[in-house]
This record gives sequence, C-alpha cells and structure tokens, in this order.
Amino acid sequence: MPTIKNNISSIQRRLQQAASDAGRTPNEVLLLAVSKTRTSAQINEALAAGITSFGENYLQEALEKIDQLSSAKLDWHFIGPLQSNKTRLAAESFSWVHSVDRLKIAQRLSDQRPSTMAPLNLCLQINIDNESSKSGFSPQQALAVAADIASLPNIKLRGLMAIPQSRTELEAQRIPFKQLRQLKDQINSLLDNSRKLDTLSMGMSGDMDAAILEGATIVRVGTDIFSPRDS
Ligand SMILES: *Cc1c(COP(=O)(O)O)cnc(C)c1O
Repeated sequence: MPTIKNNISSIQRRLQQAASDAGRTPNEVLLLAVSKTRTSAQINEALAAGITSFGENYLQEALEKIDQLSSAKLDWHFIGPLQSNKTRLAAESFSWVHSVDRLKIAQRLSDQRPSTMAPLNLCLQINIDNESSKSGFSPQQALAVAADIASLPNIKLRGLMAIPQSRTELEAQRIPFKQLRQLKDQINSLLDNSRKLDTLSMGMSGDMDAAILEGATIVRVGTDIFSPRDS
C-alpha cells in the first residue's frame, strides 16, 4: 500500500536524483506539499514524514486547516486564484502567495500584511504558454511591473511561478521552465541588488524532474504525495 510516508520518500529520491543530474544540491529545492482537498489528518501524516511547507488553493478550506494545525508551526503557501476581496485573509494567514497575477493584488497584499508579521513572500504567476484558460502575467507585463511590486512595503517579491501546459516528454517539459528561468534573469537585470529574485516555483507531480533540471527552487506536489484527488 502506498502511504503518504512512502510516497514522500519516493518523491524525495526523485528530487535528489533530478538535483544531482542538474549538478545542484537537493537543499536548493523546497518540496511544497499541495494539500488542497486533503484533511488535517493527511497533513499530519506528511508532517510526521518531515514536510513542513504546505500549499493551498482555496482560502476558506485553507483557513480551517491552518486553524486546526496552528500548534504545528507550519509554513503555508497560497497557490490558488486570488480575488481582490479576499486578499486580506491571505495577507494575514500565509507566509507566501505564489499566484499574484495583477499589480492591484500585490498592492492590496502589501497594504493588508500586518506590520507585526514578517514580510509576505510573493511570486508573480506567469502565463508561460499564453493559454486563455490560465491566469497570470504575460512575460512582457511581468517585466513592466516587477520593479514597482518589488518596492512595495510589507512584502518581498521572491520570484516567478508558472503552471505550463501538460507535456509528456522530459525535453518538451523543460522548454517552458527554461523560459521562466530566463525571464527571472531578465527581471533581475532591472532590479537593485537588494531586490533580486531568488525563487522559481515550478514543477508538479508530472513534471517536477524537468523543472528541477531547469532551476526550480520550489516544486509543488499534490497527487504523488497524497494519491490522486477525487474528481
Ligand atoms: C493542484 C496544484 C498543484 C499540484 O498538482 P499535482 O499534479 O497534484 O502534483 C501544483 N500547483 C498548483 C497551482 C495546483 O493548483
């Protein structure tokens, strides 16, 4: 029987292999367990296997789990679509938001992040395959807004996030991830030294190996840790 614990061991082996193939150290890549639709009991199993960073897509669902698990000191990442009337909840309860897709969302998160908390870590979501079904900045838009977002108070612009189209072959999967890495380098050439981006949030169950080969620093894995979600 695959258990969450066994699944995490095999994902960690995959992560180590891909990092070693890329000449990178596995410590450079954070395994973010995507726990949308999973229970607090399942999250506790992952925690027992050493995972402390969790990604959630739906705010109400996430807030319940954050509350139930508050004694565990977990690191919560918001990775789902964020409406502007919900930014306050994200600003008050998460340590990261990966899905910033408009300047206005970043401004609201900055205004609403309590100044008693550490700065909120942000990634710009990039619609790297230019799909009408996906949200995110185009590369050109991201280049235009990055410096303004990086200068906002109470937040720290850390990097870029993308969800490419699904592709089966490793070499094909690498293409959009390479484009994201190059966009990060381009944005960094516009930013002051103290504001350089250090994060690429890319790679999921089906393509994390390709993402690590292209420089991912956070992989977001749900299915291969918790088993397939009910549809
Ligand atoms: C659901 C989700 C994931 C995890 O996908 P799996 O294929 O289950 O690993 C990663 N990132 C985002 C933004 C998601 O919504």
